[in-house]
Amino acid sequence: MTLLALDGCDVFYGKAQALHRVSMEIEAGEVVSLIGRNGAGKSTILKTLIGLNFATRGRRLWKGGDVTALRADQLGRLGIAYVPEDRRIFANLSVEENLRIATVMGRRGAWNAGRVYDLFPVLRERAAQPGDTLSGGEQQMLAISRGLLTNPEVLLLDEPTEGLAPLIVDQLVEAMRLVNVEGMALLLVEQNLRVPMKLAHRQYVIDHGTIRWSGTTAELQANRGEIEKLISV
Ligand code: ATP
Repeated sequence: MTLLALDGCDVFYGKAQALHRVSMEIEAGEVVSLIGRNGAGKSTILKTLIGLNFATRGRRLWKGGDVTALRADQLGRLGIAYVPEDRRIFANLSVEENLRIATVMGRRGAWNAGRVYDLFPVLRERAAQPGDTLSGGEQQMLAISRGLLTNPEVLLLDEPTEGLAPLIVDQLVEAMRLVNVEGMALLLVEQNLRVPMKLAHRQYVIDHGTIRWSGTTAELQANRGEIEKLISV
């Protein structure tokens, strides 16, 4: 079943067109990657999916129904969560308080604070520490945890591994794999192929606001040279 989709979307910032007829979809239980260089339009697609950007043409679909007119908060209640690139941790609140806010705001479901602490044990050790005392990797773990605690059906992650050390990236990849194995669909935005090749079932490559290529991870591997050119800076 298709959970979330864009169908032929155009998005503008003022007079500048950022997306051109973008169509893409995320199936239940899938990990999908959206790959492209700086400024290609990846964040714009995420923001269009979650209702922060408005498409002047095209539709947003949830489980086949037209949800183009819904606001971000209404889409969140349907089961769409978003982990922004800047993480938006509450700097002066503790890890535990950051998690409690997400629990209160979110839907009921299998994810609770105990389970996210099991997924990221370092957060349990840091439970009483203010958000701004965490390392970059720990802040990303907290941001993902907050997304999980809203118990979405699909979690959208904007460059979750950017700027992090390889060991931390491996931990995050393993955690995202576990989350997906338990049934949550993931949409992962990345600038390179490293994490998408490890984690995603299907991939979209975007350049200049247009989907330039899509296919399975095995197909991407077979066309790797061509794809590298589309995303290299
Ligand atoms: P990055 O990897 O840098 O996050 P991206 O692929 O996510 O890049 P977008 O942030 O979606 O790219 O940007 C797509 C285009 O839209 C770029 O040309 C960018 O300059 C422009 N853009 C993005 N946000 C705005 C905005 N709020 N106002 C005007 N132009 C914007």
